[in-house]
Amino acid sequence: MKTIDLRSDTITKPTPGMRKAIAEAQVGDDVFGEDPTINELQKRVAGLLGKDAALFVASGTMANQISIKCHTQPGDEVICEADSHIFNYEGGSPAFLSGVQLCPLQGTNGVISPEQIKTALRPKDSHYPQSGLIALENTHNRAGGTIFPLDAIKAIRETADFYDLPMHLDGARLWNAHVETGIPLEEYGKYFDSVSVCFSKGLGAPVGSMITGSIEFINKAHRYRKMLGGGMRQAGILAAAGLYALDYHLERLADDHKRARIIAEFLNGIKGVYVNLNETRTNIVIADFKDYGQDASVIAEKLKEQGLLCIPFSATKIRFVTHLEIDDQDIEFALKLFKIVLDKKDL
Ligand SMILES: *Cc1c(COP(=O)(O)O)cnc(C)c1O
Repeated sequence: MKTIDLRSDTITKPTPGMRKAIAEAQVGDDVFGEDPTINELQKRVAGLLGKDAALFVASGTMANQISIKCHTQPGDEVICEADSHIFNYEGGSPAFLSGVQLCPLQGTNGVISPEQIKTALRPKDSHYPQSGLIALENTHNRAGGTIFPLDAIKAIRETADFYDLPMHLDGARLWNAHVETGIPLEEYGKYFDSVSVCFSKGLGAPVGSMITGSIEFINKAHRYRKMLGGGMRQAGILAAAGLYALDYHLERLADDHKRARIIAEFLNGIKGVYVNLNETRTNIVIADFKDYGQDASVIAEKLKEQGLLCIPFSATKIRFVTHLEIDDQDIEFALKLFKIVLDKKDL
């Protein structure tokens, strides 16, 4: 049976071209700073984000957590969004690794406001945890791949400057925001002290993320990476996949966005199903079946029986993600399966 896997953009396997690049990579000992391919990727990504330095790490979680560690002291509080990856999907590691607590603010489509942040800031008094960092996410995964508007970022930066707080961006899918808006990565990078990006999501590499920031920040991050056991040796074979992905898989994200849009419009056309079409601009579709009359998990199970894989995100919501291995025919096929499964009720 044909299977269409829309669970995540992390499921992609390296393409033949990428595997060739991996096989041909120049390597050295990266803990000694001697892997030429790692060095090339770090330099390239630092340049793209307008930063002085970058550090290759094993995962997006490691990138975010090392960044939090660098920016904070134990007892600090990190302001983030309530549906953010850092708050929900990183295993509670801010407490485990940095001894910090999180202050989650409920955003709108993943976006929090300077006013919300001002209200959340702690007085400089020894009763309170100390506000140590503001972390944003762009695109925002749980909100549905939503894009954090640049003006909103600028306004938060002004607040952060006023209170002398650093800002971190979880940019696991910043590539998608960049391709969709045409806003240069460097422009996004400008407002943050550190930015993490992933190669293993839409870009289709098997492993790897990058932390970018100042030279001083990255030197600190380098030490924490080692302490966490994340110092890798001939990691150039992984960086080669990242370089290949930037060359061949970045601009094509626009295709993923178009395909997600088709799914979004189709599902939104079904009675009782809602997709926020205004905010569905990248490769993630969150469909809310709240008035459809069936649990998300039941619908997901029926889709699975037909060969379409997706992830229930709550009792009523299901997430669909387009990626490198989904083409136009797969989308047509997906719509056909939606018709079979959802058909009987309303179509
Ligand atoms: C996937 C993801 C990460 C990192 O995940 P890893 O699995 O640790 O690489 C971080 N932030 C967001 C928003 C993500 O979607």
